[in-house]
Amino acid sequence: MYYSKMLLPTLKETPAEAETVSHQLLLRAGMIRKLTSGIYDYLPLGLMVLRKVEAIVREEMNCAGAQELLLPAVQPAELWQESGRWQIYGKELLRFQDRHDRDYCFGPTHEEVITDLVRREVHSYRQLPLNLYQIQTKFRDEIRPRFGLIRGREFIMKDGYSFDIDEAGADQTYRAMYDAYTRIFSRCGLRFKTVEADSGPIGGSFSHEFMVLAETGEDVVVSCTACAYAANLEKAEILPTESSLPVEPLLPLEKVHTPGVRSVSEVADFLQTTPDRVLKTMIYQTDEGAVAVLLRGDHEVNEVKLKNFLQVSELFLAPEEVIRQETNAAVGFAGPVGLNLPIYADYGLGSAVNLVAGANENDYHIINVNFDRDLVVKGFADLRQASNSDPCPRCGAALEFLRGIEVGHVFKLGYKYSKALKATFLDDQGREQYMFMGCYGIGVSRIVAAAIEQNHDLDGIIFPMPLAPFQVLLVPIAANDVDTMAVASRLYQEIRAAGIEVLFDDRNERPGIKFKDGDLLGIPVRVVLGPKTLAQGAAEVRQRRSRAVQLIPLASLVAYLQ
Ligand code: ATP
Ligand code: MG
Ligand code: MG
Ligand code: MG
Repeated sequence: MYYSKMLLPTLKETPAEAETVSHQLLLRAGMIRKLTSGIYDYLPLGLMVLRKVEAIVREEMNCAGAQELLLPAVQPAELWQESGRWQIYGKELLRFQDRHDRDYCFGPTHEEVITDLVRREVHSYRQLPLNLYQIQTKFRDEIRPRFGLIRGREFIMKDGYSFDIDEAGADQTYRAMYDAYTRIFSRCGLRFKTVEADSGPIGGSFSHEFMVLAETGEDVVVSCTACAYAANLEKAEILPTESSLPVEPLLPLEKVHTPGVRSVSEVADFLQTTPDRVLKTMIYQTDEGAVAVLLRGDHEVNEVKLKNFLQVSELFLAPEEVIRQETNAAVGFAGPVGLNLPIYADYGLGSAVNLVAGANENDYHIINVNFDRDLVVKGFADLRQASNSDPCPRCGAALEFLRGIEVGHVFKLGYKYSKALKATFLDDQGREQYMFMGCYGIGVSRIVAAAIEQNHDLDGIIFPMPLAPFQVLLVPIAANDVDTMAVASRLYQEIRAAGIEVLFDDRNERPGIKFKDGDLLGIPVRVVLGPKTLAQGAAEVRQRRSRAVQLIPLASLVAYLQ
């Protein structure tokens, strides 16, 4: 590729709107441009890196027995109504209507669509197991899109879904995906930690997240200093900021009489029996509305227990550590209430407004509870202090806290979607069974940013070789010198012919500018040609990361680069 012909608009200045290094460098290196909040153009150089990530993901997924397909981005509401998620997904789901006023959404994830396909096409145990994936544009209307590609609204995800005849089969698939993910992130040159994201009451871990370690990460990873235990502490720092403050008005706190399905004292009794470790907020959704549960205890164990106890199918964990502030909105009480409340899902809770919480009195709730005003979201520092005394649940040694960027997530889904959408098959005895599902996501575009977050210096990006858009940058420093340019052109062709991706800086610019741009772009190897070294029949080869410089004879240059 000729630099002079490429759309490669580098910037000297650091753009003010970019808070993190990766966002700054993606903009400065001309890889992305912002179209609007959380939505970016991928320029040629950015797309090259994205394609590198995709290629690694494809290779490893295919190698692990998964098959690629491509599902529609636009999905009919009916499927989401069938799974129950149309009602509970909240504002992250971008919804719209067609000319016939039918409801649709732009897919933030594809459990419904894939389950619908498989229930129509698969009927026998002989067709299973199946592991299907796609690499596709997703849309999530994030409340706080930020850090460039790290938290976009439109982004590129690899999402995969597996269908097995039983849990034992699903466990094997899960293991294969876990291993594939480990290979993918290692090949991307990332330093990462695999953490338990959620553990079932039986003890078996059924969800793992892959966290790229970086100070700017939004997740907190708690990791044992002695054994292999590592878990996600969920987002600890989603303190509502001015920009994320809800537009809906905050209503005054009010105590209301709410005789529930479960009495407050029953719930309180239940909570008495749970370990008293950290304070957690839960929000669950009933037919009548959303209810907040402030819960003392270890949520990983409590989630499933509480769900069974309350007989609700969906329970959303607020990712924040929450402590009680002014209100006596009590700790650990819940009950379905007939209130029409806004619905929150997943991590949109930071901006949840006018929630319901238990009150310190039987059959009463407090309505209009709000984050920030009535509940304090503990910051990372507090959290670190509060939890530092906790020993490792496995071995009792000290725990440490690290920040991470979630780049991948593997999840044992079970029967949730196959039951809701009735995806069944006939087993070898002719009995009808539900398929056992798993889902596996990778933030493909997020990886591009995460890789830069970990691989850069003051001068710019330092691409790990497997992700580099070009392996070699060829820089003739005397653009007016006919001999130099002739040798450079010949070398350019030879390097390309050897199958090496090379960017030829054929611009008529001063060496200083070429070197600065070269360092910014992060191409791992730079080859400099000038009259001085050419006189010695050699080129100067410099490694971007180590900055080590070597003179290599022109005759052996291509072989050296290979
Ligand atoms: P997060 O906790 O960061 O919001 P998530 O848990 O909601 O992510 P998943 O539903 O597990 O995300 O999706 C699979 C992968 O997609 C994530 O592991 C992440 O790498 C990526 N991803 C999710 N949301 C975004 C986003 N807004 N921008 C870029 N990548 C994303
Ligand atoms: Mg999310
Ligand atoms: Mg997450
Ligand atoms: Mg996740």
